[in-house]
Amino acid sequence: MEILPLGVGEAFAKTLFQTNYFVLPADGEPFLVDFGYTAPRALAAWGIAMESVPRVLVSHLHADHIGGLEELGFTGAFLWEDRARLYVPENLLPLLWDHCLSGGMGQRLRQADGSTREAALDTYFTVESVAPGAELQFGSVTVRPFATPHVPGRFSWGFHLHDRGTGGTVMLSCDSCFNRANVESYGADADAVFHDCQLRSNGAHIHATLDELLTLPDAWQRKILLVHYADDWQGFTGSAGSMRFARQGERYRF
Ligand SMILES: [Zn+2]
Ligand SMILES: [Zn+2]
Repeated sequence: MEILPLGVGEAFAKTLFQTNYFVLPADGEPFLVDFGYTAPRALAAWGIAMESVPRVLVSHLHADHIGGLEELGFTGAFLWEDRARLYVPENLLPLLWDHCLSGGMGQRLRQADGSTREAALDTYFTVESVAPGAELQFGSVTVRPFATPHVPGRFSWGFHLHDRGTGGTVMLSCDSCFNRANVESYGADADAVFHDCQLRSNGAHIHATLDELLTLPDAWQRKILLVHYADDWQGFTGSAGSMRFARQGERYRF
């Protein structure tokens, strides 16, 4: 599979796009992991037509991960006349429309017979609810979601990806506090772990900090590609141990 980080920035980055991924299985159609509010511009920057990747797997509900869905939904429903497909963990699904998208996308739609009906999430998207422990198949890539500790009291998910075509395996931490048990469980057979990284502690304690990641043994650090980092990351390239900073727009093959 090929993984192209559309961006590698944290939520507040201004020179980096947000950490969302384009995944191209060895065999089958591409899909996206998350679609933040910089994702439409990032796709354009990397020469990928939004219409060519109408499948999005959602990790959690922060705007840097779902903020582009309004544009994707409107474009799909009204321009392509083919709704994008969303894969949403079932415990996030009730919140996605009611708490996030309905304010901008809710409306009364006029029917052919002159009557009206309220728009809903499935007006704009084909929605697949993902149960805990489910396995999703995207062409030759099998995706296993797992729960991550991110914001207290709110669900969020990371993903384990295995491509049966190449044998390549990758762990995407998505947004997560440092959780060594998750890394050891879902990164054990991985060729690489894309891990979020807060370069400086900021008091919010909702991401893995660089210092926490540096407590991993060297063999683990060699697998780690840092993402979700701040604009001034270049000042940290000499202090990341054996971990590498993933670069946005680059194609990583596994
Ligand atoms: Zn984020
Ligand atoms: Zn988040």
